[in-house]
Parts: sequence; C-alpha cells; structure tokens
Amino acid sequence: MNYWICATCGTQFSLSEMAPEHCPICEDQRQYVGHQGQEWTSIGLLQEKGYKNVVKQEEQDLIGVGISPRFAIGQRALLLRHEKGNVLWDCISLVDDETVAAIQELGGLSAIAISHPHYYSSMVTWSEKFNVPIYLHEADRQWVMRPDERIVFWSGETLELQEDITLVRLGGHFPGGTVLHWSKGAEGKGALLSGDIIYVVADRHRVSFMYSYPNLIPLPASEVGRIRDAISSYQFERIYAAWFESIVAQDGREAVIRSANRYIAALAGKL
Ligand SMILES: [Zn+2]
Ligand SMILES: [Zn+2]
Repeated sequence: MNYWICATCGTQFSLSEMAPEHCPICEDQRQYVGHQGQEWTSIGLLQEKGYKNVVKQEEQDLIGVGISPRFAIGQRALLLRHEKGNVLWDCISLVDDETVAAIQELGGLSAIAISHPHYYSSMVTWSEKFNVPIYLHEADRQWVMRPDERIVFWSGETLELQEDITLVRLGGHFPGGTVLHWSKGAEGKGALLSGDIIYVVADRHRVSFMYSYPNLIPLPASEVGRIRDAISSYQFERIYAAWFESIVAQDGREAVIRSANRYIAALAGKL
C-alpha cells in the first residue's frame, strides 16, 4: 500500500496497493502526461533516490522550501512566519524528518494554504506532520486526489488568515486560483505570493497569466482585465511566484497592471 505520487505533476493520491492508472491532473488540458507515459513514485522512493528539501531565506519571515534536485513541476513552497502562527503557502511532494525539524525550529506551522491544484502535491502528508488545516478554494474541489478531513474548502473572493495575511481568489489558470497578500511583507510595502496564478516572466519585471503554461494556452482579455482589477486594490512591492528564481523585486503592483495591459493589447493585435 502506498500514497502514490504522479512523477510529472507531483500530486499525491489516496492510499492504494497498485499505482492508479491515470492522473486526472496531468490528463487535463493545463498539464501533460510525461513523455515515458504515466509514471509514479512516492515519498519513500524519492528519499531512496536522494531527493532532499532545501530551505532558503527569501526575506525576513519568508523562507522558501523546495526539492533538490528539481522534481515534477519544480515549485517551491514558502513558509511565512507570523507571530500568531506560521503559514505554509503552496506545497511540495517531499516532506522528511529533516524538513519537519527545520520548520519546527522556525516556529512550526498553523495552516497550509495552496494557490491551485498543481501545487496540492503531498499536502495531506504535510498537514498530518504538523496537524494543521489546509485551505483550498472550493471551486477546485474536483482536483483533490487525496481527500482528507483536514482540508477546509473556503468560498467567496477573500479569506483573511491573519490581519495582514489575506487569500484572494483571482481565478484564471484555475477557477479557484488563489494568491496570498501579505501586507507586512517587503519591509511593510506588501508582498504577493502568487503561485502561478500570476506568473513572473523571464525579465522579472513583468508577469503573465495563462490557462495552461506548459501548453501555452492564453486567457481571454476579459479574464486578464478582471484579474488586474481584482488585485490592483492591494498594495504590494514584491511578487513571489512559484519558483526560487521567479520574483519581481520592486513595483510589483505596477508590474501586474503594466503586464495585464500589454497582454490585452497583444490579444487585440495592438502590441
Ligand atoms: Zn499528474
Ligand atoms: Zn499551474
């Protein structure tokens, strides 16, 4: 019996003897099945192959946690330290004793919140290790491959986890696509933890918004405009997207507005 993990998207499934035949997340238009066909692994197998988590400070009270070498989609999670309880933003497939000890040293966890199904990964194992709830937007409920009583489905447009930590549903890439606004981040200028709901592009001064990133399927202009308007009422200097390197260091809010306007112009043939 094992909690099998899809090797392409990193999603952990419910306990079963045989690995599942399909991964619905990879078979969806927004992802893809690996070139060798559907392959499976597990936390134990990842450890046997030498995968480890690396922990890296991003700024004061914000610590990145990612798998090395890179596994599946390759995202890193972010530990947001807070006096009323730390929040793990997004999640990864591997959690081991070393990682648990490192996070305990940083004050442990009080909650997990995840941007969208591509980063659900091994969220239930993580929540068991720390005995904490997982906040997911209810619009993406169908993509939970390992249901668990610790999952809290929230609804509506925003959820305040702490006075200065707010989940904001932006949709787009997934209907429940969520970002985390941290008003005290970036030395009080505000930070946005965006997963790939808002995607930091190569120049790290702009962002993009896609229905599918690996398959390059864009969003309609109306959606991009809606996302721009929904997030521009928040102040934020810095954007932390899904990978260690994907950060907009300055003028984050302006970067989102500028990028959304460029995107809409491009779709209209007016670039
Ligand atoms: Zn998959
Ligand atoms: Zn995604």
